[in-house]
Amino acid sequence: MSRRRKRGHNSESTYIDNRFLVLDMIRRFAPLSKSDIAAMTGLTSMTAGNIINELCELSLIAGAGVQKSKAGRKPQVYAASPGSRVCVSVDLSSDDITLGLVDVLGNLRALNSFEVRKGDGTRVLHLINSLNDFCVQEAADKQLELVGVAVAVPGIIDSESGTVLRSVPLDWRDVPLRTVLEQIFPVPICIGKETHASIAGEYYFGTWGDAEDILFVNVGAGIGVGVMIGNRIHRGSSEMAGELGHVVVDPSGPQCNCGNRGCLEKLASLRSIVDRASEAAADGESLLLAEMAENRGGSLAIADVFSAFEEEDPVAVRIVQEAAGYLARGLIMLKRLFDPEIMIVGGNAIEDGKPYCDTVLRYFREYLANSNLPSDHDTAITFSKLGNKGRLLGASTWAFNRFFASLLAQSQAKNVKDTPGGQCSADHIGS
Ligand SMILES: [Zn+2]
Repeated sequence: MSRRRKRGHNSESTYIDNRFLVLDMIRRFAPLSKSDIAAMTGLTSMTAGNIINELCELSLIAGAGVQKSKAGRKPQVYAASPGSRVCVSVDLSSDDITLGLVDVLGNLRALNSFEVRKGDGTRVLHLINSLNDFCVQEAADKQLELVGVAVAVPGIIDSESGTVLRSVPLDWRDVPLRTVLEQIFPVPICIGKETHASIAGEYYFGTWGDAEDILFVNVGAGIGVGVMIGNRIHRGSSEMAGELGHVVVDPSGPQCNCGNRGCLEKLASLRSIVDRASEAAADGESLLLAEMAENRGGSLAIADVFSAFEEEDPVAVRIVQEAAGYLARGLIMLKRLFDPEIMIVGGNAIEDGKPYCDTVLRYFREYLANSNLPSDHDTAITFSKLGNKGRLLGASTWAFNRFFASLLAQSQAKNVKDTPGGQCSADHIGS
């Protein structure tokens, strides 16, 4: 499954790449004028202007008024044009399945969510099958054009075939998800990793400026990292890059589903925190946790543990602090390995665990404060503002990128003139 990136840039790929480059800039930073685009991309003014005209003709972008801040003649500015196009975006997290109809601006035109039992992968496929009606019918009712389906999966994906090779949270092995969905949805299907969806969401819809080296650390039932270097997702030779959750940090630690002991996600994920608190409640170590478990019919929720932490229950404090210490050291390791411009922490930890996030951040900063290495104190670490919605939005960009590539290829076939100059982005964010 080893993949070698093709590095040649012939005139055909430059044609598409330059248009994608302009379209990406407008999607991320609109409203922009033609001269803004020329300055940001390195394209000549004439080439930028020609491309913008072409993108307008394809209804991918549209005029969005004039640039108010400029003195004198105010230039026209442009923004992405959503029109009636949407994609079905699916987020398969371990606890629920979320589907949305998303437009190119990241607006959720419809949203539905269903709880799924832990590890019940077959049920997920049944749900997707039955939700065909919801998505297709909803799009038809609202007179929307469905351009594709994109699914964000927690696990290891062969993106060439759209097969889920292994998903520990879903308990899947070798599930040919794209093939299955192609039999259900009559549109192109994109399958990708949830961390890649998250980082694509932050790239297109986040507010992190023009950073090109970004890490997205997903902390939920598991722990995974999306790595973007120079505006491109880094997948690794076998699409395993970013599996931080399965780095062994304590060889004598608890058994992980991957086969090893003491993986980071068995010590610092939200699920691991709940597991350890449940053991403490069952062993009678903490009366408060035991009481909380009893009130829920025997099983603790992560909110209980954080609530006990805030009430300064000593056992809850110990469990949360130990987990936060492991995670903070994992973040330091990432910083040392990749030296990113920005490190974004997201996932259910943001939605459900402010006390946990605050503790992780405090430890992370303490470790850096003790360091005398250059620039350690400038590291930007932040929490996702998109929340869990980021995965849905990010996955939608895969479907739209594929759709745009198809439209641009058709446009190229009609318009054979070359557009020399400018930089070339040979790969696009997404699956
Ligand atoms: Zn593991």
